Amino acid sequence: MSDLGGAPKCLRTPTEMHRWRDENPVKLGLVPTMGYLHEGHLSLIRRSCVENVKTVVSIFVNPTQFGIGEDLAVYPRDEERDLALLTEMGVDAVYIPSSDSMYPPDFQTFVSLEGLTRHLEGASRPNHFRGVATVVTKLFSVVHPERSYFGKKDAQQLRVIQRLVTDLNMPVEIIPCDTVRESDGLALSSRNVHLSSEERKVAPLLYKSLQKARSLFDNGERCGNLIRDAVREILSQESLFEIDYVSLTDDQSLIEIEGLIERPGLIMVAVKLGSVRLLDNIELRF
Ligand code: AMP
Repeated sequence: MSDLGGAPKCLRTPTEMHRWRDENPVKLGLVPTMGYLHEGHLSLIRRSCVENVKTVVSIFVNPTQFGIGEDLAVYPRDEERDLALLTEMGVDAVYIPSSDSMYPPDFQTFVSLEGLTRHLEGASRPNHFRGVATVVTKLFSVVHPERSYFGKKDAQQLRVIQRLVTDLNMPVEIIPCDTVRESDGLALSSRNVHLSSEERKVAPLLYKSLQKARSLFDNGERCGNLIRDAVREILSQESLFEIDYVSLTDDQSLIEIEGLIERPGLIMVAVKLGSVRLLDNIELRF
C-alpha cells in the first residue's frame, strides 16, 4: 500500500524513476502497461500489491512496438482516469515517462530475439517484439523490480519476456497472470473500445472457438489439425472476422504441433474485426 494511502508518486523521467527506486530499497513488483486501464490490468496490479512490499505501475504507449500504419496515433489514452484507478488500488508509484525521455533523438540500442519472434504476431507485426523487448529491458533497468507481472492473454509476448530475462540473466521473476474476460467471454483489452456495437456483439465468437478446441481436447481428441480446423470453421462463420492465424503450438516453445498432441499445447488465434486486431488463446492441458 502507498505510504500515506494517497495518490501514487508520479515519476516522469528515467532519472526520477531511478531516484525513487534508490530511496525505496524494498521488494518491488512492476506491472508494465500501455494505460487505459481495465480489469485485466487491475488483476495484475492487485496481485503485485499482495506479493510485494511496493508496486510500481508503468504507463507508456511504446512507439517502437507499433508498425507503420498500425494504431499508435489512435491508441486509447486517459491519464486522469488511470491515475484515479491507481490511487484507488493503493499503488506506490506510477512510471509515466514521455516518449522523448525514453527515446531521445540519439537513441540507437535495441534488443531483439531470434526464433521465438519470427512467427505468429512476429510475422504479422515485423519489429513488434523488438520494440517490446527493448522497452521491457529499459523498464527493468530503471525500475529494478524483483517481480514483474504479465498477462497470459498476450501469450507470445509472455514467452518473449521469459526468454529475454533468462538469456540476459536479468534478476526479475516473471509472473504470468490469467486472462480476465467479460461475462460473454471476450478477453478485456484497451482496444475493445474501438469496436462498433455490431462488432462487439460478434467478438465473443473468438473465445467460443477456443472453448470448442478445449472441449474436443478434453473429450480425447489429439489430432492437432482436426482441432485447428474446428476453430477455423467457427471463426469463418462470421464474415466480419478477417482471420490472421489459428495456431496450435507447444505451450512453452510455441513451435507448431504437427500430428498428435502429446504435450501441453496452446491454441492461439488472431483476427481483425473492423479496425481492431483481437488476440486470444487457451491452454490445452492433460
Ligand atoms: P497492455 O496495456 O495491453 O500492454 O497490457 C499490459 C499488461 O496487461 C500485459 O502484460 C497484458 O498481457 C496484460 N493484460 C491485458 N489484457 C489482459 C486481460 N484481459 N487479462 C489479463 N491480463 C491482461
